[in-house]
Amino acid sequence: MLIKYVYAFEEGKAEMKDLLGGKGANLAEMTNIGLPVPQGFTITTEACNFYSEKNNFPESLEKEYLDYLKKLEDKTGKKFGDEENPLLVSVRSGAKFSMPGMMDTVLNLGLNQKSLVGLIKQTGNERFVYDAYRRFISMFSNIVLNVKMENFEKIFHRIKEKYNVELDTDLSTENLKEISEEYKLYLKDYHNIEFEEEPYKQLKMAIEAVFKSWNSPRAKIYRQYEKISDSLGTAVNIQSMVFGNMGDTSATGVAFTRNASTGEKVLYGEYLINAQGEDVVAGLRTPNKIQDMKNTLPEVYEQFVETAKKLENHYRDMQDLEFTVEKNKLYMLQTRNAKRTIQASIKVAVDMVNEGIITKKEAMKRVEPIKLNNLLHRQIDAESELNIIAKGLPASPGAASGMAIFDADTAEKLGKEGKKVILVRIETSPDDIHGLIQAQGVLTNRGGMTSHAAVVARGMGKPCVAGCESIKVNLEEKKFTINNLTINEGDFFTINGGTGEVILGEVKMKDPELSPEFRQLMEWAEEIKTIGVRANADNPEDARKSREFGAKGIGLCRTEHMFMEQDRLPIVQQMIMSETKRERKIHLDKLLPIQRKDFEGIFREMEGYPVTIRLLDPPLHEFLPNYKDLLTEVITLKIKSPDSEELLEKQKLLKKIELLHESNPMMGLRGCRLGITFPEINEMQVKAIIEAAINLKKEGFTVLPEIMIPLIGHANELKFVKEQLERVAKKTMEEHEQIIDYKFGTMIEIPRAAITADEIAEYADFFSFGTNDLTQMTFGYSRDDAENKFLQKYLETKILKDNPFDTIDQKGVGELMRIAVEKGRKIKPDLKLGVCGEHGGDPESIKFVSSLGISYVSCSPYRVPIAILSSAQV
Ligand code: PEP
Ligand code: MG
Repeated sequence: MLIKYVYAFEEGKAEMKDLLGGKGANLAEMTNIGLPVPQGFTITTEACNFYSEKNNFPESLEKEYLDYLKKLEDKTGKKFGDEENPLLVSVRSGAKFSMPGMMDTVLNLGLNQKSLVGLIKQTGNERFVYDAYRRFISMFSNIVLNVKMENFEKIFHRIKEKYNVELDTDLSTENLKEISEEYKLYLKDYHNIEFEEEPYKQLKMAIEAVFKSWNSPRAKIYRQYEKISDSLGTAVNIQSMVFGNMGDTSATGVAFTRNASTGEKVLYGEYLINAQGEDVVAGLRTPNKIQDMKNTLPEVYEQFVETAKKLENHYRDMQDLEFTVEKNKLYMLQTRNAKRTIQASIKVAVDMVNEGIITKKEAMKRVEPIKLNNLLHRQIDAESELNIIAKGLPASPGAASGMAIFDADTAEKLGKEGKKVILVRIETSPDDIHGLIQAQGVLTNRGGMTSHAAVVARGMGKPCVAGCESIKVNLEEKKFTINNLTINEGDFFTINGGTGEVILGEVKMKDPELSPEFRQLMEWAEEIKTIGVRANADNPEDARKSREFGAKGIGLCRTEHMFMEQDRLPIVQQMIMSETKRERKIHLDKLLPIQRKDFEGIFREMEGYPVTIRLLDPPLHEFLPNYKDLLTEVITLKIKSPDSEELLEKQKLLKKIELLHESNPMMGLRGCRLGITFPEINEMQVKAIIEAAINLKKEGFTVLPEIMIPLIGHANELKFVKEQLERVAKKTMEEHEQIIDYKFGTMIEIPRAAITADEIAEYADFFSFGTNDLTQMTFGYSRDDAENKFLQKYLETKILKDNPFDTIDQKGVGELMRIAVEKGRKIKPDLKLGVCGEHGGDPESIKFVSSLGISYVSCSPYRVPIAILSSAQV
């Protein structure tokens, strides 16, 4: 049986996105619900995939689309390439997921010397016809023949200047003819290309170009960033042309049914009279607000508002619309669920629940958890003095400071080196995508809220100031100027994507305030989700913040972070330097009240919720100075002051570091091995925990401490430490005549622990998966080095699909977790199970660990909302 590769719009529907792509499926849907859509048909993604694989059209394709073209001719009463009444078409790509600016569009296809005549006959508007022709030549050459658009723009501007014309709409028929001729001459002279006259050839070439564009480098980069599969392919939409450039009763525009930046429920968009296709987004003329259409094209405006409403209700989501008005008649060219900022997605989701359009559960799915990251990102501190040097459009919220960088390659390079850069462009194009990914934000000179930079930045959640016309960008000299002020490459400046301000220098930022809609969404998520969310926090401030973000407890308090603080480090170092247990104890006694106070602060903030405190974990050398630095100091001192006290001290320290040196410290004296080797460290920590709990209990607080032992690999280790610590806890409670209901558990972060979890469970009230170490030890990848040394290569070559330190490797690490859960719960059916590695805040990993029957995940405070929403989505 022949595969069907072509569908007329009447044959498709919204659910057929896999086959027809987003644009094609929605054109079909709009056609079928009776909206005014220019007629046309769609070539399927399967045809594209065939082409990608075989570098050739499927055998039956050409005949099939020509049949549909014939039907289109019949329906429209026009003929392709005709001298009397020619049919012109647009050829547009459309993948399943919208990839703004990534794929290509050719308008006015079918124009040649004959059909030009026909179109003039039909419209009686020669100017319009040559305007369409010059657009067609440049677009076709750019997209199909790979000739740079800027070469045509240069010719265009040269002729505008030659005739002293400011706006493209002021160009005369003769001017436009001349431009068309110049374009063709340029093609011949510089590229040895005779512009294709044969319309059927034009069509075939355009279809092929759309297929090819699926695998263009910029499309691939975008897909990689957005994690869109390479195997989806794009559809090709062939649609009879309607013209927005037919004079003052014609127009073209784009609109969102709500504000894509804030989510506010107002129609939001831009349009241009007497314009076509890309004019609105290209920023050649400054577009008008959609509301102005009320005055210029009142009937069309009313119809458009109705249509927008209808589409929003039909799709039950905010829509992004493209339309054209041809001589006062409205045509819809596209609808799709609108890309929006995270702020807008939350507001729209919550509003739509309140408006009765969607359910709370649906609202959960409308917000991408990882994007909450941006919401929780920083804004400019209101107190800071700002030297505002320019103002553009507030195209994507959030604020960022960085070095001015004027090309995407450099932005990418510096960004990858960890430098903060802001990409400055006249306007961005899809070719800039790699720079945008690495930049903190983007500033453009031209283009509106719907320009490429604005759309892409919003999607990425990065600040963007667009259309900042008061700056002059000089890309060659890598600088931009405002009046007398020059910002050169490398100079720091700040953008505020929420206000459109461009600010000199770096600016103090502050944490964001959370909107009522955000709180509402989180409340609903809390009602819906079934697994717990805790935070990794080791100080009262982080505990407070995570509680505010919705954490119900602490899943990991890393006590070593407390040891690292300035006022304790010297004591910790002295403790480590101690030669005897007695000496060590003296220093530990000094640490005890400090630790107790830390714990009191955390317990207070987390009152009523469990707090898991992990005893000391890292190798001791991490608390001592860097060996090489110290060696240099010792050598210098030997020369400068060979008899000094200081030299003696430093030499002693150096010796200790040499003594502590291990070839594989991550597999050395760390974790539970520390407390087994130096029990007094553990003893001090447990005493501090129990005493802090007692003190707060006396103040009337509910305290739920959980003591956690790291890096257990053998049940006997846990048994040993447990006996040791229970003694201390018991003694402390007896001394204070108080009872604290504490729990005792372990991390599961060594493969052997996972495999022998049944034995380990005998001694544990809970397990918490340390998925960082578990990943390190399962793969044998050093967690400190792998990412810089080889993981990048592994990801590029797709040896690994995801970075296993970000997203749990389900087959390996995940399997060990599954074994541990099963074996642990076999011994103790109500064993509490948590995940406290970085994966605890990763949506993909949360999905996976939920399927294992985990009780809670724990992550850094700023990821708590992400984890809550992800859990609700599960
Ligand atoms: C882990 O290993 O996953 C963990 C949470 O502990 P740390 O990162 O402190 O080693
Ligand atoms: Mg660990």
